[in-house]
This record gives sequence, structure tokens and C-alpha cells, in this order.
Amino acid sequence: MKHTKHYINGKWIDGVGTFNNYSPSTGEVVGIIADANREIAQKAIEAAAAAFPKWAALDHVQRAKYLNKMADILEARKQDFIDALIDEGGYWIGKAMFETGYSPGNFRAAAAATYQVKGEILPSDHGKVNMIVREPLGVVTGIAPWNFPLLLGTRSFAMALAVGNTIVSKPAEDTPLTGVLLAEVCEEAGLPPGVFNLVTCSRDTVNEVGDEIVVNKHIKAISFTGSTTVGKAIAAKAGAHLKKACLELGGQASIIVMDDADMNKAVEAATFGAYMNHGQICMSTERIIVHESLAKEFTERMTKNVASIQYGLDLRNPANAVGPIINQKQADRLIGLINDAKTKGAKVLVGGEYEKNLVQPTLFSEVTKDMDIYQNENFGPVASIYTYVNIEDAIAIANDTNYGLTGAVISKDENKAMEVVNKMQTGMCHINCATVYDEPHIPFGGVKDSGIGRHGGQAAIDSFTQTRWITLEKGGRHYPPPFKEKA
Ligand code: NAD
Repeated sequence: MKHTKHYINGKWIDGVGTFNNYSPSTGEVVGIIADANREIAQKAIEAAAAAFPKWAALDHVQRAKYLNKMADILEARKQDFIDALIDEGGYWIGKAMFETGYSPGNFRAAAAATYQVKGEILPSDHGKVNMIVREPLGVVTGIAPWNFPLLLGTRSFAMALAVGNTIVSKPAEDTPLTGVLLAEVCEEAGLPPGVFNLVTCSRDTVNEVGDEIVVNKHIKAISFTGSTTVGKAIAAKAGAHLKKACLELGGQASIIVMDDADMNKAVEAATFGAYMNHGQICMSTERIIVHESLAKEFTERMTKNVASIQYGLDLRNPANAVGPIINQKQADRLIGLINDAKTKGAKVLVGGEYEKNLVQPTLFSEVTKDMDIYQNENFGPVASIYTYVNIEDAIAIANDTNYGLTGAVISKDENKAMEVVNKMQTGMCHINCATVYDEPHIPFGGVKDSGIGRHGGQAAIDSFTQTRWITLEKGGRHYPPPFKEKA
């Protein structure tokens, strides 16, 4: 079992006390993790602030080399990450393999982005050379959630690092081991001391530590992925202290199955979208909105397909695609939503039962607006089928949520699907595919309560740099007579 430390200024530092990291499947302690307080967070921030000038001045080729090296090390240490993801996250082995396979791409895309930090030359009213350049901000805080601790952990800081910022990284309290492994990758890659710093903390100390890594004067931006509640609190502090914030928050995605949909495509996209990672994905499909003419066949096929998903606590058995909810608190919240729906008359097509934190893959129909499951992100292996006659009604159901992260439309007619996509209020939308989809270099993010700002691609370069105007006087400027040098 690993006893971890904080990684600050290139050194491993003891915490202020420790906390236990539990396996969601066995309940066993899988790590003894260093806890933190405001002073530890300050140490990390000060180290990052001290390292900033040199890192920002380093030429982009060197920064790209570090990032590519980090990607190589991540690939070489794939098994360590797979083990940590399964042990502390309770994920299906297929998901752990996907996440470890995908995440080096976040570093490689960031390495490539170092070549893409663009400036502008604008015309001048007075014969100057008007240069618009983009500069790094300073210290950036990266806060990651537990549901994709490696993919979203790397995403939280890779681009910020690439464009010349230094980092204070804070993993989620349920998945700190993955964060510690990431710090080991940074150390192994030889990142200069202070460029990347890691602080772990428990649920008891997260408010204190979380406050410091947002409001401290050296922090210039916060890269946050997590719940809308915490995201809004961070946004309020960031606003009050004039810091940039890139916030990727919750979601309640819909898939609209149009009357001409390919049935197999629809069933598979909906099943994957709703049940991958036990539904613990911000992009998870929670509403499956099916045209009335297909509803009977779709419901039968979907019910059969969901019933065929094997679930269990042995996560190294690849057949167990659905496993335990991350912790009992999250599971209890989900179970509350399921019971509320059942009590209010929702029809359980499959599942609906649970034992401790293992919740059966569940499919509802006849869900109504007064049910909590309609009003809230469920963040578990639960989805509901709705039917519609007019496409405008389907769009209305899809948009009837505070969230707006992603969506999907299934239709053989791409033009018709495009018309629907154009009316859906989401930051991302996929035609003939699942709501769950991501690539390292695309601008990922949501609208409404799903967040503000974009991770990935050119948008992330903008998120983690600031614009600066520099002029070069070429002799065209005349000052008013009273200010001229008198002969
Ligand atoms: P969470 O908001 O509870 O925690 C996210 C992170 O915030 C964790 O690292 C946590 O330790 C930290 N945190 C908690 N309180 C804090 C505070 N006071 N100050 C600073 N940091 C604090 O979310 P979670 O339960 O870990 O993740 C699930 C949520 O994340 C879901 O709502 C999901 O939809 C969302 N999510 C969004 C995306 C996206 O890209 N939009 C991706 C994954 C997950």
C-alpha cells in the first residue's frame, strides 16, 4: 500500500496528517494519503511562482520536449495507472485501459500547441507597428474530479503548462493516487523544480486548501473540472479576485432518436452513452428521446441490451462493465433519485435495485417532470426513455435542463439531424454517435450550468494566456505643441 507525500518544488514533502483512500469495490484502504492545510498550499504556490519566470522564458521547443517525454513516461507506466484507477476509482478495466491510452494524447496535443501560440500585427492610425502577443499568466491551479482522474487530471494542466504557466495541481480526495503518479511522471521527465506541484487533501481540508489555491495572489487562473455547485463557488471567488477560470461542470445529456434512425446505431450509442463508467461521466446520456414510431421496438431492444450488461465488484474481470459507485455518499444520492422516481410512478424497464454502492444498470420510462431524476444530473448507471411525436417536442425535452454540455442525434438524414443539432443548447453535439466523446485537441466545454471556457485546442491556448499589446514607434506620432520640446 502506498503512503504518499505532496510534491512541492521538486521534493516529496510530508503532509499535515493523513487520510485513507478506499477502494470502492472492496472497501479496503488502498492508500495512506498526505493531507494538507493552507500553509502547505501556500508552499506549493510560492514554489510555482518562483519557477514561473524561467519556465515562461524557456523556448517552446524545450517545453514541447518535456511534454512529449511526460507522454512517453505515462505510456511506459500504463500498468501503474491502470492499477490505481481500478483500486481507487472502482472502474471497469476497459475504462482504465481507455483512460491510460487516451491521456498521453493530452500531453502530446499540448506539446503541439506550443507551436501554435499566435500573435497579430494590426494596422496603426499613427504609423506604429501594433503587435498583439499572447503571454502566459503565471501560476495556474488545476483541480480534477474523481471520475476520470487521469484524463481530466492531465487535461487540467497540460495546456496551461505548455504555454508557459507553472502549476499547482489538486486531485480529488477519492482519487489522489492517480494524482501522485502524475507528479512522479513530472519528476521522471525532469521538469524543473516548482514547475509542477501537487497537493493532496481530504474532504475535511478541501475547503481550506481549495480556498488558498483559488484566492492566493500568485494564482492567475483556475482550471476546474467537477460539479456545478463547487464550480460556481470557485467562479464567484475567481470573479471577486479577478482571476481567469475555465470551468467544466456537470451535464444531463440527451440523445434524440429520429424517426429514420438506424436502430442498431441508436441502441448501441444510447447504451454506451448511459452506462460507460457506471454512468459517472459528465457527458453521460440521461435522456433517451425516441420518436413514437420507433418507441416500441427501441424500448424492447434497449431493455434487452441493458439487461445484458454484466455488473459486479471484481473489476479486473473485463466482463464486469458496470461496477461500484465511487463512494457510499454518491451511491446514496443516486439511490434516492431512483427511489423517488419509483415512488412517483416511473416504470422500471430493467434494474432499479442496489446493494451498498453497487447499483444495477437501470432504465426507466414514464418519467415525469416532478421526479428528482428529471430535475438533476444522476451521475450513475441510470437513464430514462421519453417518446415524442413532433421533433420540436424532442428538442424541448433535451433543452429542458439547466445543463448544456453535450448531446447526440441519431438519423439517417444528416441534414435533418443538423437542423436538430442547431436547436440544441449544448457546447458539443454528435450526429450518429454517443453523447460521450472527446479528443485531446478539440475545444471541450459546455453552456448554461455546464460551465464556461474551453479545454483543448486553440481555445485552451486562449484560456491559459493573456493578450498583450506592444507598439513599435516608427516616427509617425506627433505630440501636441505644449508637450513638445522647446527649442
Ligand atoms: P466535485 O465538484 O465534488 O469535485 C471536483 C473537484 O473539486 C475535486 O478535486 C474536489 O476535491 C474539488 N473541490 C471540492 N470542494 C472544493 C472547494 N471548496 N474548493 C476547491 N476545490 C474543491 O465533483 P466530483 O464529484 O469530483 O465530480 C463529479 C462532477 O464533475 C459531476 O457533476 C460531473 O458532471 C462533473 N464533471 C464534469 C466534466 C466536464 O468536463 N464538464 C468532466 C467530469 C466530471
